[in-house]
Amino acid sequence: MSEERWDAIFVGAGITSLACAAMLVQRHPGLRLLLIDKHIVAGGYATTFARARVDATFDCSLHKLSGMNEGGNLIRILRDLGLGESLGLVYPDDYFCAYHAGEAMALPNDADEAEALLLSRFPHQAEGIATFFEQVRTHGRNGYYQFQMLDGSFEPDMAQLRYAHRNFKHKTVREALRELFDDPYLIEILAAPGIYVGGYPEDLGYLYYLHVVYATLNRGNAYVTGASQRLSNLLAQRVVDAGGRLMLGTRVEAVLTGEDGRTRGVRTNRGTFHADQVYINASPHYAVRNLFAEDVDLGQTVEKLAALKPARSTTTVYLVTDRAPGELGLPHTESMLFADMPGDSSDLRIAAERAGFPDAESEQAFWRCSPMEVTNYHALDPDGGHVVCLNVLDSIAHWPQRRTPAYRAKKVRACDALVERLLSHVPDLRGHVVHTEVATPHTYVRFTNNTDGSGYGAMVGTDLRGHVFHHGFPVAGVHFLSAWVAGPSYEAAFGYAEMKARQWKRA
Ligand SMILES: Cc1cc2nc3c(=O)[nH]c(=O)nc-3n(C[C@H](O)[C@H](O)[C@H](O)COP(=O)(O)OP(=O)(O)OC[C@H]3O[C@@H](n4cnc5c(N)ncnc54)[C@H](O)[C@@H]3O)c2cc1C
Repeated sequence: MSEERWDAIFVGAGITSLACAAMLVQRHPGLRLLLIDKHIVAGGYATTFARARVDATFDCSLHKLSGMNEGGNLIRILRDLGLGESLGLVYPDDYFCAYHAGEAMALPNDADEAEALLLSRFPHQAEGIATFFEQVRTHGRNGYYQFQMLDGSFEPDMAQLRYAHRNFKHKTVREALRELFDDPYLIEILAAPGIYVGGYPEDLGYLYYLHVVYATLNRGNAYVTGASQRLSNLLAQRVVDAGGRLMLGTRVEAVLTGEDGRTRGVRTNRGTFHADQVYINASPHYAVRNLFAEDVDLGQTVEKLAALKPARSTTTVYLVTDRAPGELGLPHTESMLFADMPGDSSDLRIAAERAGFPDAESEQAFWRCSPMEVTNYHALDPDGGHVVCLNVLDSIAHWPQRRTPAYRAKKVRACDALVERLLSHVPDLRGHVVHTEVATPHTYVRFTNNTDGSGYGAMVGTDLRGHVFHHGFPVAGVHFLSAWVAGPSYEAAFGYAEMKARQWKRA
């Protein structure tokens, strides 16, 4: 057992912690940072796992880094860290390929070209399409440069901000898109990028959503050769090279609080470590429930947290084929598969939730009728093997406890449903799938402690009250640093990490 003193301790080594720690040691050489994670590799969701038998490495989250063209926030931060060149960035041609009722339509990775393609496919929706892309260009852009707005380096048009506040702030994506369009398939296509941030159209705030489209489409997207694990490892190495330490396979059991109301460090299953600053990368609900002593009055934080809704979780099928997926009819890096009756998906999810998430209705709504995201990882990085991943946003509410017969049976049903959807749209893959395995919302909780298995932190809906849960946190020196405060995505993680690194001062 050890007792050591550090300048700061990070509870969890997810991508936000890693980014912040790497920026801190760059700005303040000599700073001694300790990163602790219960998992055996660094990165949280930004990790990979391998299956030697099928020669495959699976990325647990990353398929698109947003903000990766000139003017993008993430590419600027990566370059500032000196990582621009070393990541082997891959820029796909397409934003995604939309599959529906026998039609495949690849949306180019360029906002103007995507708009032109949608205009030619949906000429009867021309006015709405022009309005939507204009809203992305103006209001999406204003949202995207929010950190620059705060530090004065981006001056927004105040009339635009007032307009957005009045007209969009209280609208969901579903409400706003239904005002612009009456073609249900077009609505599903335009709402599909919500998958990147863990929300369906009925969940997400429209103003926030416009910024998601701007970040991913207008500001460019890319993948990292060597997968998300490579990015995580490079950041971790920076911290270690600067004299810091990464303790893996170590569980933080408590954040220590002194009588003066300041943090003293953490207690883990491998000893106690002291610091005046503790950055909590774990979910705030989990942290508040498990990591603080009973005599710390967290009443107000708990009250605020009640309003912080987790984003959707994910059910994922990791799949391996016996040949390159591109040779088997899946040429695009990313595809979105839409149900035959796309207009029904939102209503079916809402109905399943209102009915208390019955099995059959929930599986129909979330697995078969909602958009399914498919990443052809082989097309992004062939060294990872013939890997394809299938993702649907899901709810933990209809999943039984792990290690029960009902849970195992449900995993089989999930795998069958998602794989069958893929095969029905890409029939040449049939007979070529050599390996499948499923991650459920419970898998995500088990590996990350994130509330309800959310892989995207908090849902950014129309009610943002819970998002300030950390304001006035009663223990001095404790910071929250994760998708739960930054917002979902690697780009948000790096942006928030940069802001926290700039705010560094010793206690
Ligand atoms: C399927 C999926 C696909 C995604 N795809 C993309 C994408 O393509 N592009 C994109 O930008 N974003 C994507 N995201 C979102 C992105 O991955 C997340 O927003 C981001 O990785 C969250 O990082 P985080 O810093 O909040 O930490 P997390 O990844 O949540 O990590 C938290 C860490 O804390 C550790 N921890 C928790 N409790 C303890 C404890 N008591 N002791 C020690 N350690 C602890 C956990 O082990 C974990 O490592 C995706 C997410 C999912 C789920």
